[in-house]
Amino acid sequence: PAKPKLYILSDFHPDAVKYAQSLFDCILFEDPKGAHWRSDATAILIKDYYITEKDLIAAPQLKVIGKQGVGLDKVDVDACKKHGVEVCNTPGVNASAVAEMTMCLAFSVARQVPQLLLRQKVDGEIIRKETVNGLLLSGKTIGVIGMGNIGQTVANVFYGGLGCSIIAYDPYYPTGSGPWDQIPHTRVDVLDELLEQSDVVTIHVPLAPSTKRLISYPQLQKMKRSAILLNTARGGIVDEDDLARGLEEGLIWGAGFDCHVEEPPTKQTYERLWSQPQFVGTPHVAAATDETQIATINAATDKVYKFLVG
Ligand code: NAD
Repeated sequence: PAKPKLYILSDFHPDAVKYAQSLFDCILFEDPKGAHWRSDATAILIKDYYITEKDLIAAPQLKVIGKQGVGLDKVDVDACKKHGVEVCNTPGVNASAVAEMTMCLAFSVARQVPQLLLRQKVDGEIIRKETVNGLLLSGKTIGVIGMGNIGQTVANVFYGGLGCSIIAYDPYYPTGSGPWDQIPHTRVDVLDELLEQSDVVTIHVPLAPSTKRLISYPQLQKMKRSAILLNTARGGIVDEDDLARGLEEGLIWGAGFDCHVEEPPTKQTYERLWSQPQFVGTPHVAAATDETQIATINAATDKVYKFLVG
C-alpha cells in the first residue's frame, strides 16, 4: 500500500527525516510544495511552528499534528480539539537533556563559570583566585515548580547526586502513588512556602495563562537573597523586567535561563538582563543534543503513524 503523506514543516535532524521517510511519503520543509501544506496535508510534523485556528480553517483535511517535544504553547490546542485535529507531542522523551541543562545552568550560576571565562578571554583580565567566591549546592534545599517529567528528573539528580532536600509545588499533580514516591520530598500547596525555603528554585511548568508571570517582583522578594532561580521551561513564566530589577537590587544571588520571551535572545533586547553579572542565559537549547532531537522527532513520527495507520 502507498505510504501516507507527511509534511515535515521544520528543519529536523537528517537521521530523523530518514526514519520518517521509511514510514511516510514526506514533503520536506525546504520543498516549495511544503509552503502549501494547508490545502493538502492530512498529517504534519512540527517543532517551533505556530498553529492557529486560521491554519486549521485553511487546512480542512488535516487530521493529525506531530509536535516534537513537550511544549504546546505555540499550538492552539483548543482549536485543534474543535476542528477534530489530533495533537501528538512527546512528553518525557527530552526530560534527561533538559534536566542536564538545568544542572548545567545551576552550576554555571553558582560557580560563575561563563563569567570567569568571559573576563579572562574577552576582557584579558588576570583573575586572582582569592577574589572569586561561589555557592555550594550539595545538601541545599531545591524548590521544584512543576512535578512533571523534567521536574522529576531534576529532583532526582539534586537528591541522588548532591544529597539535596526537595520541595515540590504542583497543584495539578495527583496525590497518591506515582513516580515522585521514589524521591523523598516535601510537597507544598502554597508557592510562597517553596520560594521562602529554597536555595535553588527551578521552573518546569508549561507556559499557560496560569503560569504567565508566575514569578514576578513580589515572588522574587519572597526568595532568599542567596537563592538561584532557574528557568528551562518557557520565557514569560518569569517577568523579565522584574528579574532584571531583582538582580540589580540583589533580591536573589543569580539566575540561569534557557528560555526568554524574545527568542532567539539578542543583545539589544536583553542588554539590561545580560549586564547583570549573575545572570547566565542560553538560547533555548536545553533539548539540543543529537540523541534527544532524533528521539523526540522519531517519537512524534511514530505517534502520527500510529494515529493514521494503527
Ligand atoms: P510535563 O507535562 O511532564 O510536566 C509539567 C508539570 O507542570 C505537570 O505536572 C503539571 O501539572 C505542572 N503544572 C502545570 N501548571 C502548573 C502551575 N500553574 N503550577 C505548578 N505546576 C503546574 O512536562 P515536562 O516534560 O516536565 O516539561 C515541562 C515544560 O518544560 C514544558 O511544558 C516545556 O514548556 C518546557 N520544556 C523546555 C525545553 C527547552 O528546550 N528548554 C524542552 C522541553 C520542555
